[in-house]
Amino acid sequence: MTNRRNILKGVAAAGALGTFGAGYAETVQKLAKGKWSGKKPRDEHVVGNSIPAEFTIDPETGDVTLNPDQAMSYTMCIGCTTMCGVRVRVDKKANKVLRVAGNPYSPMSTDPFIPYESSVAESFAAMAQAGPGQGLTRRSTACGRGNAVLEQVDNPRRVLKPLKRVGPRGSGQWETISFEQLVEEVVEGGDLFGEGSVAGLREIRDLETPAVEGAPEFGPRANRLVWMNCVDDGRDNFVLRWLKQSFGSNNFTRHGSYCGGAYRSGSGAMFGDFKAMPHAKPDFSNAEFIIFAGTAPGNAGNPFKRIGNLVAKARSDGNLNYVVVDPVLNNAQNGPSGERARWVPIKPGTDGAMAMAMIRWMFENERFNATYLANPSKAAADATGETSWSNATHLVITDQDHPRYGHCLRGSDMGLTIEGEAYSDADPYMVISESGPVAAGASPAPLFHAGVVETPNGAIKVKTALTLLREEAMSREMSDYAEDCGIPVEKLVELAREFTSHGRKAAVSSHGGMMNGSGFYNAYALMMLNTLIGNLNWKGGTMIAGGGFSETKGPAYDLVNFPGKVKAKGLPFGRNVPYERTTEFKTKKAAGAPYPADAPWYPNAPGLATEWMSSLVNGYPYGVEALIFRNTNPIYGIPGVAHLVDKLKDPVVVPLIISIDPFINESTAISDYIVPDSVMYETWGFTKPWGGVATKATCARWPVIEPKMAQNAEGQRVGLETFLIGVAKRMGLPGFGDEAIPDAQGNLHPLNRAEDWYLRGAVNVAMTGEPVSDATDEDIELSNVARILDDMKATLKPEEWRKAATIFAKGGRYENIERSYQGDKATYAFNPPMLVWNEGLGSFRRATTGTHLPGTPAWRAPEFSDGSKVHDHYPREDWPVQVVSFKSPLQNSYSVGAKSLLRIVASNPVNVGRDLAQAHGIKTGDMVRLTTPGGTLESVAVVRDGVAPDTVAIEHGFGHRGFGAQDITIDGTTMPADPRLAAGVLLNDLGMLDPTRGKAGVWVDPVSGTAVRHGLPARIERI
Ligand code: SF4
Repeated sequence: MTNRRNILKGVAAAGALGTFGAGYAETVQKLAKGKWSGKKPRDEHVVGNSIPAEFTIDPETGDVTLNPDQAMSYTMCIGCTTMCGVRVRVDKKANKVLRVAGNPYSPMSTDPFIPYESSVAESFAAMAQAGPGQGLTRRSTACGRGNAVLEQVDNPRRVLKPLKRVGPRGSGQWETISFEQLVEEVVEGGDLFGEGSVAGLREIRDLETPAVEGAPEFGPRANRLVWMNCVDDGRDNFVLRWLKQSFGSNNFTRHGSYCGGAYRSGSGAMFGDFKAMPHAKPDFSNAEFIIFAGTAPGNAGNPFKRIGNLVAKARSDGNLNYVVVDPVLNNAQNGPSGERARWVPIKPGTDGAMAMAMIRWMFENERFNATYLANPSKAAADATGETSWSNATHLVITDQDHPRYGHCLRGSDMGLTIEGEAYSDADPYMVISESGPVAAGASPAPLFHAGVVETPNGAIKVKTALTLLREEAMSREMSDYAEDCGIPVEKLVELAREFTSHGRKAAVSSHGGMMNGSGFYNAYALMMLNTLIGNLNWKGGTMIAGGGFSETKGPAYDLVNFPGKVKAKGLPFGRNVPYERTTEFKTKKAAGAPYPADAPWYPNAPGLATEWMSSLVNGYPYGVEALIFRNTNPIYGIPGVAHLVDKLKDPVVVPLIISIDPFINESTAISDYIVPDSVMYETWGFTKPWGGVATKATCARWPVIEPKMAQNAEGQRVGLETFLIGVAKRMGLPGFGDEAIPDAQGNLHPLNRAEDWYLRGAVNVAMTGEPVSDATDEDIELSNVARILDDMKATLKPEEWRKAATIFAKGGRYENIERSYQGDKATYAFNPPMLVWNEGLGSFRRATTGTHLPGTPAWRAPEFSDGSKVHDHYPREDWPVQVVSFKSPLQNSYSVGAKSLLRIVASNPVNVGRDLAQAHGIKTGDMVRLTTPGGTLESVAVVRDGVAPDTVAIEHGFGHRGFGAQDITIDGTTMPADPRLAAGVLLNDLGMLDPTRGKAGVWVDPVSGTAVRHGLPARIERI
């Protein structure tokens, strides 16, 4: 029976291969010959070049037999920001990862994921056989990129020894130096390059002298060391300990402002936290209708692989229908998905117009959740069975000349006696009643009101937050919104009607597609649709992440506090604080004209790498003495930054640039020193999901292979942790060395090696709440944790090491899936209010103009920092096209070195829609020139359906000048550029400076300070 079924399947496969082969004859030939990997196939069975299985399971007994040549371990992929829990197969002899697949304990790779109590042997069995009749339903997978990027470990262009530049910055000339020389030079400084004296880190770490004479708000000179990171790969807590608590610099930023930051800021506005920027994801498995705006399931996003998996299942087995609103059609809508998935094209950067049109229709047709929105407090929500609440009913001060304009009316404004400080949590918000304003209580309050209230200090005009949102939505006609976003009125109405036809089982999802000149308000408006139907914390609605188990603040060790810890102080270098807190403001105010500031400030934003580039080259608000790039690449990633790079290459502007990175990318290429670092499966780290997982989950990464970097004099592999520990010990910084890590009993333990930190972190993860079970000898053997067993025993207490071993044996700690919901509600609910009106937003003044912005979602056409509209500077007649970027499921900004990806997609042609192509006489294969006010590029065009009118789309991840796309010379030997790595074009080369800024800076969203790469005004011509 089995044989017959397999034979039938084989016949069907042969037919399919034949059809496929008609177009790809050569590929099929290679497949048949087994030349796919360039090797002669082994003559065993029908599997050609497959690697021998890592283990076998006896189907009768369930006994696991390991392949003695291979190890199998659960760890983490860092091929993208999702950071999935995966399993890797390691060729023990060759110290090489052979294949990557999923970790069945991890929600990022498996749905449903297996109970955490399962032994490692049981996890193997679950993947191989889910049970009678269930086949491989519990198989666990990695994505295509995840399977390719492991090649980076063996990339011949890896930096394995410390490098020091020997020519001018960016010349590509390097020499190798010892770890000890590296540490000495960066700590002590001196005439390091024959270009004059450079201050070392010892001198810069001055905790007394102000960073800026006469401006104490910027803290001490130590802040003149600044650190640019990419994404937290699970090692940032180590970095932050070194930078903030030991060195004393307050300047650390990540890549979000040139990734998906506008969405996160817009979400942060609604969730009431502009710094942490909480966000919720749809409950993909249980929602009935989802609008994906600027993101597409299975194409990009975070958690990329999990969303694709859940959405595919929900649209085939569940009740999900969805719409992808995007200027570019991608694989989220395709033949097999049928009517369940639809594409709605939209003009780039106009999602706010669509969302505000839907909001208008919802108000006009009373299709919002009035019962939910009427709850003015958590107590009221609890009383009505709701699981979240909003400030829709709160009164907002609307007198433009009132000192508290834009803030919510509070009890102290009304002269109420309060127990605590005015405007603190003890000061109640006010709602309207028949007798006037009253403190928000446990009862519903009126949704709409506009009037004047009498206070001890006079009459104040007020409106409810929902009134202000309604006014904003009604300020434009449906036809205006339709014209602006390019979606017909009927379609907008259809979207709004469908969205409001599923109770709470509908949701809007977004992410990176908001990176345009009005991205913040677009994102805020999109997210407000979720609040208007009250879907937060409900099954089938939207849910925040369940969180994780902290490695730093656990019951066993305190990895945050230590003797001698310092507190970093001072306003951050990136200007993401109120301008009004600066000496510049006070000085200008005293002179009668506090506005404009010398450059924009972004109080409603987190740290901004985009604005750091401007701060670096302009020395505003202060100059920097040393810059560290850690595994990051802003010079590739920030649109328009090419205009600033030459200044950054000037050592006078930033005297010392150190990179910690395994590769020479576009940014590390302009540094003075490069510290080698571990790659993928050589590294340690702990991460938790950004979103999309309702239970607690911590993924653990540990070195499953021996790292390749050179060793220092003490025999340790050189990398991030080794470097920071080496510098700290040479400088005598607190928190490192023999007495650095306190345990729960107050004893101090050493921090001399990476293992001292991460092994103790694993104990914290294991011991939090109900401690995990001890790893058995079998768990340790099957997961190859035996590889680090001696270290664990030597570092940890006898009662701890088996707990830590469980964390590494299972690739982390995962709460069981049954904890996702309590009935129809999410177990981990977000409790603070959803902000229909955000006071911080509604009350701040733009530093460039001194004017206010709306405190509610709004549709605002893209603008520059002075508030002028982009198309006033670059009229549509002259710039009729708009350029957008998109991501494929394979390539990202740092995966180009994985050559197997380039064998699938070798380059990124410019995608042109049919009408636009016809208007310009462009055919597929023609060379075209794209010009924006920021730059020009030439590339091959592909004419296709699925691109919005007057839009040109460019895939991200190509057009490199780093990673080996240019020559690299080390110790006089040149490794020539590989043209495959330089293939294609980079949209960011078309990015623009903001022409209204006095000090040079790239064009960013005016509120979130995030980069603009969607909707660049452009011209196209065939060449
Ligand atoms: S989605 Fe793919 S590339 Fe990203 S972490 Fe997961 S397996 Fe790796």
